Amino acid sequence: MFKRIFKEFTIVMGIALLVCSIIYYMVVSHILLENTKSSMYSILYLLDHMITEESLDEDIDFLYNFLNDKPERFTIVHKNGTVLIDTDVDKDAILDNHMSREEIQEAFDSGKGYAIRYSETLNKNMLYTAIICDDGEYVYRVAVPYEGIASYYPTIVPSFLIVILISFLIALGFSYSFSKSISEPLKEISDEMLKFNHDEQVSFKVYKDEELRNIVNTTESMMNEIQMQLVQLRKEKKIRQEFFSNASHELKTPLTSIRGYVELLESGVITDPIKQQDFYQRIIKEADSMTQLINDILMISKLESADVEVVESEVHLQDICNEVLEIVSPLADKQQVDIYTDIENKSVITVYQHVHHILQNLMSNAIKYNKENGSVHVVLSVKDGMLMIQVEDDGMGIKDEDKERVFERFYRQDKGRSKRIGGTGLGLSIVKHIVNYHQGSIRLTSKENVGTIITVFIPVKEC
Ligand code: ADP
Repeated sequence: MFKRIFKEFTIVMGIALLVCSIIYYMVVSHILLENTKSSMYSILYLLDHMITEESLDEDIDFLYNFLNDKPERFTIVHKNGTVLIDTDVDKDAILDNHMSREEIQEAFDSGKGYAIRYSETLNKNMLYTAIICDDGEYVYRVAVPYEGIASYYPTIVPSFLIVILISFLIALGFSYSFSKSISEPLKEISDEMLKFNHDEQVSFKVYKDEELRNIVNTTESMMNEIQMQLVQLRKEKKIRQEFFSNASHELKTPLTSIRGYVELLESGVITDPIKQQDFYQRIIKEADSMTQLINDILMISKLESADVEVVESEVHLQDICNEVLEIVSPLADKQQVDIYTDIENKSVITVYQHVHHILQNLMSNAIKYNKENGSVHVVLSVKDGMLMIQVEDDGMGIKDEDKERVFERFYRQDKGRSKRIGGTGLGLSIVKHIVNYHQGSIRLTSKENVGTIITVFIPVKEC
């Protein structure tokens, strides 16, 4: 980039210098011509003033003698065009009518005139200046060899070339520093941006120019945004990888058990029909837990991709709670846990499936992680367009360090216990996904060996 700017700037400077030289040449030529003309007119006016009828012969003799060996030429032309005197030719020579000469015609027309013509005799360009004399009868003309500025070449050219060279060198230096001042900050910025590609630390300089500052600021904010997105993408990638490896692991365990039971049954080692029945029951239990796990995984993936059927309907709070109670009661009986409910007699418009899922999950957790003869309290109420689902138990509680993590996929405080009682480790994660889907909120209060309260708030339409 530097080379290109430098090259183009140098060309522009060169052209500017050339144009300046041409203009300078034309102006100087013009001034020189005007000055020469003006001096020659002055001489002509002086001669007009000095030459009288009486002194004419004497003056002409003088002029013949004086201009004899000089290139200057003096002519007197009568108003009819006949040449009276021409110091370049013999006194008695007859010359052609001079009326057609440009400078003579101009002098008769407007008082004075000039012309530049090539002289065959002298092999030079001549400058002719002519004025009409006082009485209007004659035109006086003076001619001098004139090459314009070309005659000054020997003196002007060397100094002019030096000036041009110095100017060009100054322009070159100027264009070098100018090109550098443009290209260097851009190179610095581009170098820093390349570092970003290689995951290196990026830091831009502070520039004085507003445009560069704008580029740096915009680039910095874009990079920050990309960096944040990258961090987010990496995080999501990691979560996905962990999820797949956890899911495979969780599926592998029941599959291995099933295979083991089937192999044992197939080998014929187990002959006792009661034991065989027990093995079949275990296979069914493992298959059920696999189905539950797959259903939970599917639910999470649907919620994440927002590919869920969101059919809103009128949901009566007491009805939905009773339906869930019917499902979880066998477990509660088995665990000897009492369930108490405080349900508002109201209906709301919401996604039935989602509320059912949250309620069933929180209630079965409250039963699963409870103690013998423990109790569970369920509260469902609506206020200001918010449905509150609160499930409280006086069970084993959640350790402080686990409170955040229990909402992560497959995170379980006590893996053995959770698995024994049919947990997949995805329940609370699904609850959180549903709550996020509805832009609601979730609150967890728990104390180890005292109990847990989980409260969910979901925006609903009140009926
Ligand atoms: P799981 O299928 O294991 O129950 P969840 O996602 O529903 O998975 O819960 C994650 C973990 O949070 C559980 O394994 C358990 O350790 C803990 N947990 C959830 N609810 C309760 C609760 N009411 N009391 C104590 N611990 C709980």
